[in-house]
Amino acid sequence: MTQLKSLSHSIQQKAILAKGMMPAPMGAFATEQIIEKIKTQLKEQNAVLVAHYYVDEKLQQLAEETGGLISDSLEMANFGRNHPATTLVVCGVRFMGETAKILSPNKRVLMPTLEAECSLDLGCPAAEFKQFIEQHPDRTSVVYANTSAEVKGLADWTVTSSNAVAIINHLHSQGEKILWAPDRHLGNWVQAMTGANMLNWEGHCVVHDEFRTNSLKELLTEHPDAVVIAHPESPEELLSMAQVIGSTKVLVNAINTMEAQKFIVATDEGIFYKMQQLQPDKEFIVAPTGGKSATCTACGHCPWMALNSLQNLSAVLEKGDREIRLDKSTIEKAKISISRMMDFSTQQGLIVQGDA
Ligand code: SF4
Repeated sequence: MTQLKSLSHSIQQKAILAKGMMPAPMGAFATEQIIEKIKTQLKEQNAVLVAHYYVDEKLQQLAEETGGLISDSLEMANFGRNHPATTLVVCGVRFMGETAKILSPNKRVLMPTLEAECSLDLGCPAAEFKQFIEQHPDRTSVVYANTSAEVKGLADWTVTSSNAVAIINHLHSQGEKILWAPDRHLGNWVQAMTGANMLNWEGHCVVHDEFRTNSLKELLTEHPDAVVIAHPESPEELLSMAQVIGSTKVLVNAINTMEAQKFIVATDEGIFYKMQQLQPDKEFIVAPTGGKSATCTACGHCPWMALNSLQNLSAVLEKGDREIRLDKSTIEKAKISISRMMDFSTQQGLIVQGDA
């Protein structure tokens, strides 16, 4: 317990450090120039951009304009695997680059920064997770995609927030008991949705863990017509106030299909780019976090996602450094749990065929 507490403290410190490393804003002319340069670099290098909903909107826009993809981690992995480009440039956090490499070992996988980590990944070191598995040999181990390649290599299954409920339901129906890592909120939610016997690791996301119900209640009195939609990495009490709970993809679908005109959104505010693009007449409000005080390390935006910028994207395309490199045996081991998820998702129609 003391070990996990000190780990949690060091993760907070890393998140604060990441905030201090955010790239400086650029003027309009310089932005236009660098965007044109990146478009040329992508063509010259037969590279495609794969961007997560949480990165800077200029990167998302660039991905769209150049034939790449903006999506959640499941579709990002699938798209990279099927796309003919020989270089994948993953704008997101490190585990997303690793997953791309595991599924496309013969492609070059670059990232604008290799320092973009994730508090869930950091909070579940492989050595400790191995011990956790060894202490519970009667359980099937299921890890969330937000983990290192080593941790995925130790697990029986990898899942994302798009398919976690379907996969746990499947395992539960086979009579299996589950060992879950690393996000405790997502684990609790999946457990409530499926009724499965689950033993959960105690990790959390520094962004979603900050969402607060008291402030949300106040916000709802100001906006009684708003619908609350939330990512399941958010605390349980907040989820109990949400009308829609699901992956980033599910949240984007919700604002598209629901009649409501106003949404309070409990996930990283980077997703507003896609939401505003799809529904320009609807209003989106970020759910209140732990505070706008000096102690807040998240404030609705992931400090590591924010490290991806036009500047470091152009730089990595120029120098080719910051490449994801994994040894063959790590790839082979991690591929087993990821391929199980991909195959299951394809069979269940959870991956949209032809996305690439
Ligand atoms: S938002 Fe949370 S879960 Fe997502 S990458 Fe950042 S720290 Fe990890």
